[in-house]
Order: sequence, then structure tokens, then C-alpha cells
Amino acid sequence: MNFSSALLTNRVSCACVYQAASVAALCCAACGSPQEDELQVLQPCKHLACVYDQEAQEFTFKSDDFKQRLAFSKTTVMDELDTRMLAQLGYGDELLALDLTRAGCWSRELFAFDFNAD
Ligand SMILES: [Zn+2]
Repeated sequence: MNFSSALLTNRVSCACVYQAASVAALCCAACGSPQEDELQVLQPCKHLACVYDQEAQEFTFKSDDFKQRLAFSKTTVMDELDTRMLAQLGYGDELLALDLTRAGCWSRELFAFDFNAD
């Protein structure tokens, strides 16, 4: 994969999601599976590419595919993870990033779903 050409053509979509009920799990935009169980333990479906904590600035989840892309691209996330960085990893239309804020909680997490995952 040529990452320099991917930079010019790929565009990753991002939506901001605000959840009023802070205990409700975010559901996958592709298959509808809740991504957390009732104890708020992450239960990733096959579409989840990564979860990034924007405040702690660290990944809390990376799929195997995502780990490989990160390793090959030599991209390092210095600050917040954004769609530009996701495009640098070779993602495009198939990826939907959800920037999640929960009520009563200052933290923001970015969930990225890969619609092409199988
Ligand atoms: Zn899913």
C-alpha cells in the first residue's frame, strides 16, 4: 500500500456523539453491537478498529489490523487522534470515527469502526 497517495485521496468521516446516559454503551454503527457490557468492560465487535482516549492520549483498544497499519505507517500519535491520522494509516470511506463524550464525564474517546472488517 502506498501511504503517500493514500494521504491525498482518503478521507475518513468523523461524527461527534454525546451520550446523556453515561452508562449506556456505544453501539457499532455497522452491526449494532454494544461495545461495552453492563460493567463497562469493552466488548469490541469485529468492526472496531481502535479506541483512543483523547485526554489520556493513549489507545485503550487496537484491532490486529490497526496494529499492523500503525506499525507499517510509522505514524505516531502525539496528541489527539484525528481523521487525518486515520487517513495516514490507509483508511478511507470504510472507516467511521465517533468522537464520544459522556454526560458528567470530561473524558472523550474516539471509537473507529471499519465497515470492511470481516
Ligand atoms: Zn460491529
